[in-house]
Amino acid sequence: MNASIGQQGKPFYITTTLPYVNADPHVGHAMEFIRADIIARYKRLQGFDVFFNTGTDEHGVKILRKAEELGIEPKQYVDKYAEVFKSLKGVLGLSEVNFIRTTDEQHLVAAEHFWRLCHDNGFIYKKNYKNKYCVGCELEKTDSELVDGKCTIHNTPVELIDEENYFFKFSAFELKLKKLYMEKPDFVVPAFRFNEIRAFVERGLEDFSISRIKSKMSWGIPVPGDENHVMSVWFDALVSYLAAIGWPRDIEKFEKWWLETGGVVQYCGKDNLRQQSAMWQAMLMSVKFPPSKQIVVDGFVTGEGGIKMSKSLGNVVNPIEVVEQYGTDSLRYYMARELSSFEDGPFTLDRMKATYNANLANGLGNLVSRIMKMASANLPGPVAVGEVAFHPEYVMAMDFYNINKAADVVWKIMKETDHIIQEKKPFQIVKENKEEGVAMIIDLVKKLYEIAVHLSPILPQTAETIQMLIRENKMPEKPLFVRRD
Ligand SMILES: [Zn+2]
Repeated sequence: MNASIGQQGKPFYITTTLPYVNADPHVGHAMEFIRADIIARYKRLQGFDVFFNTGTDEHGVKILRKAEELGIEPKQYVDKYAEVFKSLKGVLGLSEVNFIRTTDEQHLVAAEHFWRLCHDNGFIYKKNYKNKYCVGCELEKTDSELVDGKCTIHNTPVELIDEENYFFKFSAFELKLKKLYMEKPDFVVPAFRFNEIRAFVERGLEDFSISRIKSKMSWGIPVPGDENHVMSVWFDALVSYLAAIGWPRDIEKFEKWWLETGGVVQYCGKDNLRQQSAMWQAMLMSVKFPPSKQIVVDGFVTGEGGIKMSKSLGNVVNPIEVVEQYGTDSLRYYMARELSSFEDGPFTLDRMKATYNANLANGLGNLVSRIMKMASANLPGPVAVGEVAFHPEYVMAMDFYNINKAADVVWKIMKETDHIIQEKKPFQIVKENKEEGVAMIIDLVKKLYEIAVHLSPILPQTAETIQMLIRENKMPEKPLFVRRD
């Protein structure tokens, strides 16, 4: 396979957000991991040298309380969850990926060093602080963000904090952030999320608290030079994008993956927009680092009718169970093609089954069987397949992280191929005019190979199986996707 277009060896850095380990992985995590992996695989096929990162966010009050509830040490608690999240690599079929934990020594060193730099540059100060705090978000909330004193995301009452804290001078970066947004017109994808964050900065920035008093919240990284405080979770976790690429110890690695790449591409959910595209960018500016390359913002995965998934409604879907039932590539298919690239979208087992039967068992699986049946029965040997260039529409969609549209392009090619078989009936022609029939079947195998190349970032295992069948000129022993009743 060769779909590269002269990007040989150029570095590309992409990361997911690090999930907060206070609960089991949900479909939203699966979607973000799979989509980032699709982009990582696509970039590798284009010839880029890719650093793909994920990991776990392990400090903060929510985790401390969970551990207390269970009567175990927080470290014991996060160790268990880190393993659960690590296992997603196999479950979701992720390609080579770095896994960083915010309790890793490498990260602790980075977070401390970052704090010192930011402090030495004059962007950290201490003040007495009274505020409303949502433990669910691990963020302070203003009255305008609350309804009846409750966080609108978590529907839980906020807590009142009255203590001396360290603050980050976020307000010093208002103009600089506006300038960044002007200079990089595709900095946040999609555009409607970019508008949201622009409007947020436009309303004016307030300095935010970046520490907690250790006596009230002990599970965090100590503030350098002040043992009575620990860093608050965002100021700690965001630095992991630098720690993952070796900063501050391995400057060569940092130069390659941060400076040569033009920064990291950060996949995140819409509830992370502010942290990723404003707070973190100001933090980078405070230590004189270039900004991230791009922020790609997903919608939420919901239940039927756009209703939030929740245990009490019984509409929670566990991605690990979906994979056990339907296989890794089927879940990847759903995340790539059945959900909007940027808006909220529903995931239910009924929808999974319907699309599996229609588009994988009947669609893709059938097409592979039909073509390879004709090929193995009528061709003297395997078809020599040449280089395949990605379809321009597919490239355009992938380059804008519109995975949904890229997947549609592949299914469009499948539909055209199906149409050719139905219209021209090569299975009949080969009986009447061998030469003409064989030529048509060879063309169809080449078309199938083209489909496999385009599928390989999205359904890597299936794409590999199709290429193997073409190389060996044989029919699949059993359907690629068995119909479900
Ligand atoms: Zn909240």
